[in-house]
Amino acid sequence: MLKKYKTIYLDYAATTPVDAQVLDVMGPYFNEEYANPSSLHSLGLRAKSALDDAREKVASVLNCQKDEIIFTSSGTEADNLALKGMAEVYDYKGHIIVSAIEHAAVLETARYLEKIGVDITYVDVDEYGSVNPKDVMSAVRDNTFLVSIMYANNEIGTIQPISEIGKHLQKKGILMHTDAVQAPGLLCLDVNKLHVDMMSLSAHKFYGPKGVGALYVRRGVEIVPQMHGGGQERKLRSATENVAGIVGFAEALCLSDAHRKSEAHRLSELRDYLIHEIRKAIPEAKLTGHPEYRIANNVSFCFSKIEGESLVMRLSECGFCVSSGSACSSGDLGASHVLTACGLSKKVAQGSVRVSLGKYTNKKDLQSFVQALAQEVNKR
Ligand code: PLP
Repeated sequence: MLKKYKTIYLDYAATTPVDAQVLDVMGPYFNEEYANPSSLHSLGLRAKSALDDAREKVASVLNCQKDEIIFTSSGTEADNLALKGMAEVYDYKGHIIVSAIEHAAVLETARYLEKIGVDITYVDVDEYGSVNPKDVMSAVRDNTFLVSIMYANNEIGTIQPISEIGKHLQKKGILMHTDAVQAPGLLCLDVNKLHVDMMSLSAHKFYGPKGVGALYVRRGVEIVPQMHGGGQERKLRSATENVAGIVGFAEALCLSDAHRKSEAHRLSELRDYLIHEIRKAIPEAKLTGHPEYRIANNVSFCFSKIEGESLVMRLSECGFCVSSGSACSSGDLGASHVLTACGLSKKVAQGSVRVSLGKYTNKKDLQSFVQALAQEVNKR
């Protein structure tokens, strides 16, 4: 008989709830300050000013200029704009380097560009999912115009040496993009310390609303817009701005960055506790991702006796919301490209579970989770 717990959410890498303060500041932009920021009347000017303030706040967290921020509809759109926007500058000729474990938003965009003429190198990772800067640099060719490496992996939490890679590339005059969607609230977002020229973000991963993202583009870096229309966002992303969403994005980013150090510390202690307890309760559990260079909220394991998706469903019946790393598309159970890139067999990779912690996670909930997990896995 399954023990049923209250619902405990441990899937913060998938999305987060909107923070109450964020919701509060967004509220008026739905029904009081609802004007189009391109309108010339007083209400329009107020909406425009709200956009300006939001951009300023985001720029302060990224340590960049206001006009270097382009708001988009999502992290996916920001990634698409970065890669496609730059590839078009080069007439879809030349060479891009990405890592083999990028999120689909980068990987599928790279595959699309490959089909229309761009050369793509997919740099391998080691068993922990780390990209070696030397591998990136030795993949560089005369016609390489962009390198895109994610900051922290969404499945296994491995943090990449972005700053080191960025520094090497800067010396060679090659541009660097990072998908930093998993980083806010946990890692430093200073684009100058990171030596990146473009960076993607998405509000729903840091207690902001869904459907709003941003792409940082360093001044002087040229990209071609991929959305044509009214010329908003410095002509780089047409469409009436999602004012409420953008205001929420900025508030959420500032809040999460203000608490970043203390929250990263608290979560990394909980993360290490959970890893320790899972290993104790289930000796054959295999930790995936880097043991040290790991984002503070990620715990991911493979279990040999059970398939990840069915484990996720069983745990859900007990009240726990977690994810499986294995992609399930069109009904086929596939192994995660991230885990196979780390050298795991498809069979082992299919037993993967990702637990991601957040603002409302506490030790007691993790204790209950380990009990339920051990009960499910050990009975096989
Ligand atoms: N990149 C990474 C690393 C992600 O984890 C995600 C979302 O899961 C995305 C990009 C896509 O972001 P969005 O959901 O805003 O499109």
